[in-house]
Amino acid sequence: MGAFALLLMAVLPLAAFAKGKPIAKGSRGNTQGWAVQWQPSRLVNGSPVVFEVAPPVRLSGLSAKWLEHDVSFSFDPATRSWFGIAGVSLETHPGTYALELKGTTSKGNDISFVQKFTVSPARYPSVAVSVARKFTEPSPEQLEKIRQDKSVKQDVFRQTDPRREWTGKFRPPVDARISDVFGTRRTFNGKVQSMHQGLDYAVPQGTRISAANSGTVLLASPLYFEGNCVVIDHGQGLLTLYLHMSEIKVKAGEQVASGQEIGLSGGTGRATGPHLHMAVRWEGVYLNPATLLTLKLP
Ligand SMILES: [Zn+2]
Repeated sequence: MGAFALLLMAVLPLAAFAKGKPIAKGSRGNTQGWAVQWQPSRLVNGSPVVFEVAPPVRLSGLSAKWLEHDVSFSFDPATRSWFGIAGVSLETHPGTYALELKGTTSKGNDISFVQKFTVSPARYPSVAVSVARKFTEPSPEQLEKIRQDKSVKQDVFRQTDPRREWTGKFRPPVDARISDVFGTRRTFNGKVQSMHQGLDYAVPQGTRISAANSGTVLLASPLYFEGNCVVIDHGQGLLTLYLHMSEIKVKAGEQVASGQEIGLSGGTGRATGPHLHMAVRWEGVYLNPATLLTLKLP
């Protein structure tokens, strides 16, 4: 092996880090003593992401800017790392984006670090769907209900708690086949176009639905399109939503544990039949639930 090959071997890992290239779980860097890892290793538009940050010194707090959002971090004593959940919106164009970390040391000094990430394009399918006409051509009364729902949802989405409430892995809310993936471009009755912003599970009416993780119930009521709907706040700006239920088993304001029963599946609202639509929302952005369910979390 010549001197040039040896030099290349020494330089390559650093070069890969400088480009923010994901390696397995996500890269580690030693520049300025910061180590940043992330999951999933490949980021696409629509993907949730968990950042795991080991700063060079002990910090009393850590936050970050990412794609014009604030990311809140919580310290995990077992790994001595800071964990923060974030996401990449469906509308984000492929490219390189910076995670701008800002920490406060125990002495009250500010330290910062920038890690760059590549966002690759995701490929999502297209389908045609038929639903009752009232969902594609609502009457004035139905439009009024839709308008009211919109303000209810806006209120609910404003009440999120930045403190972390999730613990450990997110679990599937039901044990069933997936009938439609996140990101599908759908045309309803040949007219209304929309992007499928959740994950559909093929479950018959009355199947037990469980909370994907621990959190606080923000909403537990019927809505026009969503049907009987439960929204859980897991902290750090992350919510999970469960739609079209036949029955709701929790109340707004209630704390739920991971795996706790929150309702029974159904086909209420704009649904072609009984199924569970689960959605993941982070700071106003819908993310791919299937990816969230694969993340290894403390
Ligand atoms: Zn759905």
